[in-house]
Amino acid sequence: MMPVLDIQGLTVDFSTTEGIHYVLKNVDLNVNKGEIVGLIGESGSGKSTLAMTVLDINSRNRKRSGSIRFMNEELINAGTQRMRELRGRHIGFVPQSSMNALNPLVRVSKQFTETIKDHINMPAQQMLELTEKTLEMVAIDPSRVNSFPYEFSGGQRQRIMIALSMLLSPKLIIADEPTTALDATVQSKIIDLLKEVVEQKHTSMLVISHDLHTISRICDRIYIMYAGRIVETGSTEQIMHHSEHPYTQKLLASRLPLMSEHVKVKGISGKPPSTLMEYSRCEFLERCDRASVICKTKRPPECIDNVRVACHLGEGT
Ligand code: SF4
Repeated sequence: MMPVLDIQGLTVDFSTTEGIHYVLKNVDLNVNKGEIVGLIGESGSGKSTLAMTVLDINSRNRKRSGSIRFMNEELINAGTQRMRELRGRHIGFVPQSSMNALNPLVRVSKQFTETIKDHINMPAQQMLELTEKTLEMVAIDPSRVNSFPYEFSGGQRQRIMIALSMLLSPKLIIADEPTTALDATVQSKIIDLLKEVVEQKHTSMLVISHDLHTISRICDRIYIMYAGRIVETGSTEQIMHHSEHPYTQKLLASRLPLMSEHVKVKGISGKPPSTLMEYSRCEFLERCDRASVICKTKRPPECIDNVRVACHLGEGT
């Protein structure tokens, strides 16, 4: 089956006054129809750059190579006009800090109808009905359609942004850190909502997060990103219960315990490497307690084709 999103060999650099930042390095990632795929990593690992590169909204000083196919259409050279048509209509986006992304002084109804008008000719009454129906799907009372965003709570505004991303029934929704800045109970409800959206709208989703434990609950497959590379990929079961990469294992061990648990929380010590350098060794070296001599001199295999784990451990087994 043709993937909805098929990224191959995506490499992205940014030129700055400090030098070149090597942000994404030979990334392969795909999302199939009806799937929820997680892209997980620490802040600064390149996850949001991947989302913005797919949507072509971070093009300043950017150099990119590789392939981004959406519904079999190559997007790398699609052009500004085509990308504008695709964004919002065929690819929905829930941006980071999205509960603050709505204009607080413009009524919700207007923000929704403007999005519809950008893409489709529709009578005013039908636009209002579509807006109300979509708000209802995310459990926002449609009678509040003419309220201003500031009249809603943070969790409700997040729901409204999710509604906006799915308004025109896109084939793919990219949700960037959809639960950050929400308290645990609201987070859990938003996660459930994302799953409902995919099922009810027959869409697919790439969900980006630093929080493996929270997001894994709804994902079919997961990609783990470190320093701009995919370091492990697999089904949610493989990642959560049979992970092989030392970074994934540290992410799994660093979750916050539940109130009832008496476990010691292990953070991941050390910092990610600078994006200003190109490395001919494993980028996780300084933070890895299983490193050997080869890790200092040779890059591990890349997560492409059938390689699931980018690590020298397990090579030759
Ligand atoms: Fe650790 Fe070596 Fe694997 Fe890198 S390649 S994660 S340094 S064991």
